Formats: sequence, structure tokens, C-alpha cells
Amino acid sequence: MNLRDIGEFGFIDRVAPLGAIRPEGVVKGIGDDCAVMDLGGPDYLLMTTDLLVEKVHFLFQWGSPEVIGAKALAINLSDIAGCGGKPLDAFISLAIPDRIEVEWLDRFYRGMSDIAREYSVNLLGGDTTGSKNDLLINIALTGSVPREEVLFRHTAQAGDIIVLTGHPGDSAAGLEILIGSTDLPVDCAPDLVRAHLEPRPHVKEGRLLAESGACTAAIDVSDGVSSDLGHLCRESGLAAVLYENKLPMTQELMTIATRMAIDPLDFTLHGGEAYVLLAAIRPSRVADLEDLFEQRGCELHPIGEFAPGTGIQLARTDGSTETLAPRGWDHFK
Ligand code: ADP
Ligand code: MG
Repeated sequence: MNLRDIGEFGFIDRVAPLGAIRPEGVVKGIGDDCAVMDLGGPDYLLMTTDLLVEKVHFLFQWGSPEVIGAKALAINLSDIAGCGGKPLDAFISLAIPDRIEVEWLDRFYRGMSDIAREYSVNLLGGDTTGSKNDLLINIALTGSVPREEVLFRHTAQAGDIIVLTGHPGDSAAGLEILIGSTDLPVDCAPDLVRAHLEPRPHVKEGRLLAESGACTAAIDVSDGVSSDLGHLCRESGLAAVLYENKLPMTQELMTIATRMAIDPLDFTLHGGEAYVLLAAIRPSRVADLEDLFEQRGCELHPIGEFAPGTGIQLARTDGSTETLAPRGWDHFK
């Protein structure tokens, strides 16, 4: 059997049952943005890790070493945000091919420590090895969250409103420009390219959702809205409906997608590496959360709702409804 046959998530499902060897203190193991551990204090300990591989996740020519270092930490910060947590301490492991110069690594660490300082994260360790071919970057990050505030994927309720904390299509459109799959020059859409290369982790938004007591579930959008909403639905045992006319899109996305002859909705629904949050909100609290987010300079876009059942429906602006299959990122499909 090939990994293509079961996909990335089929593989994770396969290994998940092997995880719970010593279940005491494990509040959530494999299957959420972070593992959640109860060490007995008022806060839960969060733990997440992400691996970036040259040519799979990034190319050197796309960005400075500082940008690559900052993004490597940002994507881990985003998983802490997905659980409503505050980031704490990071561990950085690198497999480094010969051709990488020390000056490149200095600048990579400068980028990483700048964003670490911004979020008050210590860099406390890691591991360093050689690599025969490509650069591999693995970061593990801890965080904490008051136990009554932790946000899971499996706890959304039927009737909850689905919200986004940003514009999920920008990053994927920026990637399309960077790859050069269209004739558009890289400087034609700086905000889209920046959304891809320099994602801002929504830690502030995650804390606002967690503290509000109005949020029943959350995930960070790394694979794409259709896939990540699929995870929320599957884990919570629910269906969802999304309204096309409520999906947030920037003017730059709409302009550039049109120039690419791609429906901007495709980027918004299926584009990966967005690192905004997708969350479930109690319906009676949506209006006050919208006010709170506005006061704090953050965005909150209601885009649909959860319902009993399975699957995701897309209610089109023309009144028709279609089933939305998860078409977000899977490393093996
Ligand atoms: P995210 O996109 O939020 O980082 P992933 O889709 O990468 O989450 O992973 C989903 C869940 O599967 C997480 O709980 C993660 O820790 C776990 N996971 C991913 N790969 C492995 C693996 N090789 N072995 C064990 N658990 C894994
Ligand atoms: Mg995640």
C-alpha cells in the first residue's frame, strides 16, 4: 500500500491508537493542533511541532533567511493559537546540507529570534545534524492555556456559528505568484506574497476567542478551509453550511485571481498555509464578539454554521447549494 492510498490524514489515523501508552494527564493526544497535557496546575501545557522541508515547503529564492526563520516559528505559534493558548518555549532542530553558509544560518536565527521576542518565546534547545540534500527545519513549541479556556477541534455544537479571523485565500494566491505558474510578476500583489511568506500567527485572536467563553471549538487553517472545517466537522460529529457571499476576500485577491483566470473562491475555500483561525461561536454571542474584535483591531467574519449530520454544504450566492469536498492540502494525495 502506498501513502497515496490513505493520504496524510489516513496515516495519522492509523498511528493515533498507538499513542495512549500512559494516558494519565493526557487531555488530548494525536488529533488536534496541539497535544494538551494536565500537569496539575491551573493551566494546561500545550505542545506542537512542525517540519519544514526545502523544496516541499519553501525555496531559498523566495525569501530572505530571516523570512524563512520567522515563518518556521510562526506556523507553530499558529497551532498554539488554534488551542487558544499563550506560546512559551521553542526547540529548533536542523538538518543542514554543506552548501548552507554560517551567515545564512545567522540570519535565519535573527528572523526567528525577532518573532520569538515579539511573542515572548524562549528558544531553549534543539538538535543539529548534517543533511545529504535538503535543509530540514523542525520546531517544537510549548504553550499554556487556562484549563477552562482550552479550544479543541471536537467540541463544536450544532447551531454554532462558523467564523474566520482573517482572509484565508491570500496566502495560496501569493504562493501561485511565487511559483511562477502564471506570468504575473512577483511585485504585482505584495500583500498576497507577504501573506504566504510572512504569515502573522493569530495568537491574539486565539486568546480573545478563548477568554470570551463564547468559542466552543477552533483550528488554525493550515491545509485550507474545506479541509480544516472538515476536521472540525469530523471531530465534532457535525455537518456545516458555508455561505458563499459571506466568505471574506481581499480586493487584491479578487483582482489577481481574475488576472490568473482562477476563481478567487477556490483560493478562499481550498488554499493552504493561511494561518488564520476557523472557530465555532455560540450564536447568542456573535454580535458582542464582533464588537470586541473590532475594538481590539482584529477581524471576525461569520461565514456559516454547524448543523447535525455530516459533510459541508456551500450555499451559493445564486441560491443553489452544493456539497463541498475537502480539497485542501494533503502531502500524499
Ligand atoms: P497541524 O496542521 O495542526 O499541525 P497536522 O495535520 O500536522 O496538524 O497533524 C494532526 C495531528 O496529527 C496532530 O495532533 C499531530 O501532532 C499528529 N501527527 C502528525 N504527524 C504525526 C506522526 N507522524 N506521528 C504521530 N502524530 C502525528
Ligand atoms: Mg493546526
